[in-house]
Amino acid sequence: MIAQAVIMAGGLGSRLGSRTKDMPKGFLEVGGKPLIVQSIEKLVAAGVEEIIIGTGYHAERFEELARKYPCIKLAHNADYQTTSSMATLAACAPLVKGDFLLLESDLLYDSIGLHVLINDPRRDVILSSGRTGSGDEVWLQVDSQGSLVKESKDAGELDSVYSELVGISKLRKETLGLMVEELEKQGKPKMDYEAAMQAVSCAGNGIAVRKVEYYAWCEIDDENHLKRAVEQVYPRIAENEDIRGIRREVLLNPGPATTTDSVKYAQVQADICPRENEFGDVMGWISGELSLMVGKPGRVETVLFGGSGTAADEAMISSCVPQDGRLLIVDNGAYGKRMAKMAGIYGIDYGTFKSDGISRIDVPALEKELVDGKYTHLAIVYHETTTGILNPVPEVCRFCHDHGIVTIVDAVSAFAAIPIDMDRDCIDFMASTSNKNIQGMAGLAFVFCRKEALEAIKDYPMRNYYLNIYDQHKYYKDKNQMRFTPPVQTAYALRQAILETKIETIEGRYARYTACWEVLIAAAKRIGLRMPVPESEQSHLIVTFMDPESPRYSFDDMHDLSREYGFTIYPGKLSDAKTFRIANIGDIRPEEMERFTVLLGQYMKTLRGGREDGRGRVQEEAPGA
Ligand code: PLP
Repeated sequence: MIAQAVIMAGGLGSRLGSRTKDMPKGFLEVGGKPLIVQSIEKLVAAGVEEIIIGTGYHAERFEELARKYPCIKLAHNADYQTTSSMATLAACAPLVKGDFLLLESDLLYDSIGLHVLINDPRRDVILSSGRTGSGDEVWLQVDSQGSLVKESKDAGELDSVYSELVGISKLRKETLGLMVEELEKQGKPKMDYEAAMQAVSCAGNGIAVRKVEYYAWCEIDDENHLKRAVEQVYPRIAENEDIRGIRREVLLNPGPATTTDSVKYAQVQADICPRENEFGDVMGWISGELSLMVGKPGRVETVLFGGSGTAADEAMISSCVPQDGRLLIVDNGAYGKRMAKMAGIYGIDYGTFKSDGISRIDVPALEKELVDGKYTHLAIVYHETTTGILNPVPEVCRFCHDHGIVTIVDAVSAFAAIPIDMDRDCIDFMASTSNKNIQGMAGLAFVFCRKEALEAIKDYPMRNYYLNIYDQHKYYKDKNQMRFTPPVQTAYALRQAILETKIETIEGRYARYTACWEVLIAAAKRIGLRMPVPESEQSHLIVTFMDPESPRYSFDDMHDLSREYGFTIYPGKLSDAKTFRIANIGDIRPEEMERFTVLLGQYMKTLRGGREDGRGRVQEEAPGA
């Protein structure tokens, strides 16, 4: 796992004349996007957590970029006008924590190059290619071990040419230290980083050269390079990356949600025993980052379990109520009901507060019930996925907090879409899962615990084993391992999903989901579909619709038609009403929701007697997938 990258971006880009008058070279656009942004996106998609950019010329442009991408850290080379790339790299060195990827800023490259380096078993590796004919090559010579012995722009200076330097390498922090020493030793401010790599490699610290003969890449230093980039290299890269794309299926069911290709690919990792520290650190990182999404630093512990959302709910119900506790469960849908069932099975003294699931719960009545019934604990679903109603959790939990009642919240389908602060919202325990709004794969369940609330359950007699929250927490803290086999690949996917969530932000994600929801309900109103939950109470994450009143309506036909065009829909869950649900969570865009609503409209037209082919399909205006 390579967590950091360094991009050297201090240079003047003077060979590009007026194009770089007001900006560094990395901001040149090819294919409608600045090179540096393409590079950042590829690095994040490859699992890089932090990108250090060494700035110089027009550093303010990178400062602007860092405001958009929280994963960017900046290091400034104040002498950029009189120094070269090695000085910029030396400015970045104090921020480097371990093995890292090193890149030039003016590169256009196929993302596969990053994976080649990440998967190379050697720790110091330079990526290189066959001859590109670009006219500005840095040639490499290697020894019999495949390590760098000489680099030069003049092929005549080498005994033999092995390959061409790309400008992407993977290095150890220690190797970088030696390169910085070399800069200081040689005292040449204009030293290039390639020269430093050569010196270090030749001094017995071999840096391997990995050659990918037909690698698609280019550097852009002048007008000819730019022309070649636009006309030849970019189309090749775009085609290569497109070929690796995974068939798009838009899931409009309420989770598992649609994921990005980078999340899917993140599961493909070298085999690892999950009891290795390296994997323990991945789990620790996941748990720490999840905690920061729902609380201030140090306030929340996130306990991970292999399991689905139900496992997290069951862990809370069976771990957090003491033998003499009394639990009130809000039941306004299938998930509240499920928690009540669990409480019964575990022999917990519990009661239910019932509400219809389509109107806002009666908060004063709930508060009265809590007090009159002398309840010590409350369990409530944040977002009842059954109908798409958002319960007033902060309001209810604040009341509980003021009355010394411990709060247990099922936020399985709310977390990572609805901004939550467990301290502010007075939530003691909260459940969620890897495959909903966080946009990872199914298989990891998590329970967020407010620190004091977690300590308070420490000595409760255990009524569960696998799902015991405190035991799971303590074992991990003591041993840097999960108690039982975790879903390893799901964890890597979740790590990637967290990186992507941090860039989008939870607020940004909710805004995107809301934009999709707006498209959906605007279309529903046009089509004439009725929604039992008033718009003001809807979560913006899923909508329940009443079945159309037509004898020709069939959910299965509507499902099959949607599926044919790449959309998956899901039936309703309201027990006493005929409904279906459309969720709008996951990696989906408003344009995709638009396409789905065209399809929905066409299906509804067939119910009113539109021309159809017997399977609910209208032939005209295929909406495209
Ligand atoms: N709680 C809520 C609110 C849910 O929406 C779901 C699933 O949709 C669950 C619990 C159960 O999650 P899982 O199906 O992952 O066990």
